[in-house]
Amino acid sequence: MLDKTEFYINGSWVPSQDGHSFPVLNPATEDAFATITLGGAKDAEAAIAAAKAAFPAWSMTSPADRAGYLQKLLDVYIARNDEMGATISTEMGAPIDMAVSDQAGSGISHLKAFIRALGTMEFQRPLRQGVEGQDIAFEAAGIAALITPWNWPMNQVVLKVGAALAAGCTMVLKPSEIAPMSSILFAEMIDEAGFPAGVFNMVNGDGAGVGTILSSHPDIDVVSFTGSTRAGILISKAAADTVKTVSLELGGKSPNLVFDDCDVEKAVRMGAAFCFNNTGQSCNAATRMLVQRSVYDQAVEIAAAKANATKVDLPSNSGNHIGPLVSEAQFNKVQSMIQAGIDEGARLVAGGVGRPEGMNRGWFVKPTVFADATADMTIIREEIFGPVLALMPFDSEEEAIALANDTPYGLAAYIQTGDKERAKRVAARLRAGMIQVNGASRAAGSPFGGYKQSGVGREGGFWGIEEFLEIKTISGIV
Ligand code: NAD
Repeated sequence: MLDKTEFYINGSWVPSQDGHSFPVLNPATEDAFATITLGGAKDAEAAIAAAKAAFPAWSMTSPADRAGYLQKLLDVYIARNDEMGATISTEMGAPIDMAVSDQAGSGISHLKAFIRALGTMEFQRPLRQGVEGQDIAFEAAGIAALITPWNWPMNQVVLKVGAALAAGCTMVLKPSEIAPMSSILFAEMIDEAGFPAGVFNMVNGDGAGVGTILSSHPDIDVVSFTGSTRAGILISKAAADTVKTVSLELGGKSPNLVFDDCDVEKAVRMGAAFCFNNTGQSCNAATRMLVQRSVYDQAVEIAAAKANATKVDLPSNSGNHIGPLVSEAQFNKVQSMIQAGIDEGARLVAGGVGRPEGMNRGWFVKPTVFADATADMTIIREEIFGPVLALMPFDSEEEAIALANDTPYGLAAYIQTGDKERAKRVAARLRAGMIQVNGASRAAGSPFGGYKQSGVGREGGFWGIEEFLEIKTISGIV
């Protein structure tokens, strides 16, 4: 059993003052493999005090100095990327190859994007040409609380920590208590990279404890959160009394619009694979497949075949399969969602309730496809966070857009069409923060975030750094 009960505060590993121990479970075996501490108020206070003390000096460093520190962190991260992948795989169940390349690897591309952005950002500039003595400065917003989830643990942590460091903020990270091991390793990397004491602090804890203290504390200026809409609302309310800047990256129910003028076989196969990737535990997963009626039956068949061909296996095995869900709570939630799909009359064409055949331990579920879902069904309205795809037919472009936008969420939307003009028309009318056409991926450093209840603000590259900056007008220095 690994003992990882200490916190990283003010440049040192320190024991908890008022926390209690908590087991970290391997989702493939259901066994505890590590012990952490869920911190208490004294632990959170100590971390906030360290960040506060470090702020004056760190916020005055030059962008070039901060880029230098980020480069050192990037070098350490690259050297330990395999270790990071293995850690993520064990704590949350991503298959090892994908955990190394995509889960851990995302940290590398985000750090590179922040370093690149720092090289081009102007932190002080004139209001406009021809006006003298009117300067606009972009300055570190203060002390940041960073609260992250378990589904893409390092992706989320690096998006927040990298941006906050680049902006000149000091911070307290509270990672998910369900997948804390990758953040403990990340704190070791920060230590190895030699950041000044107190710039980065990490305290483990749960939402009701450390999470709530951070989001309501008067010394915290910015809260950046990724996770459920439920927690995002609670955090916003807790932060309101002290008027903090709050950025939220929340859930999604992203539509994938398949028109009959695309390569249907490829689009549906890739769309289903994308939905099942990371065992469906991605906020931007394409979970609602809207298909033009002329190719609908064909799409249902292809999606079902893809689900049946998707291998479910141990995360420790090499290969292109999916692993278990992260926890028993997620397993039970996904089972009840699949049951709701059946009970409400959607047509089950692949998968279903229960574990895959031959598996009786670990939170493994069957890749599942429903056809003939309707707009009012639970599986269409609610985020499932499991490998569950629902298909609906549409007759016209107008209807497809209306169905796609009929959701409280607005994170991502996907369009499959051979008609460029249609792609432009539809992209302009979809109420979502990220539109991807014909399988194109977002370039590193693109802004990530959503409309409506999918959140507030953007992460990644230049836009991610902006979330941690205040704007200051300076008039009269000529
Ligand atoms: P969660 O939102 O409860 O937890 C995410 C993080 O927020 C964790 O670090 C947690 O400790 C913290 N937290 C929880 N409540 C808090 C509070 N009141 N104040 C401060 N911090 C708080 O997510 P979960 O319970 O692990 O998962 C539940 C559902 O959330 C999932 O089924 C999924 O639908 C959704 N989810 C979405 C994302 C995403 O990327 N959008 C990520 C994880 C979970």
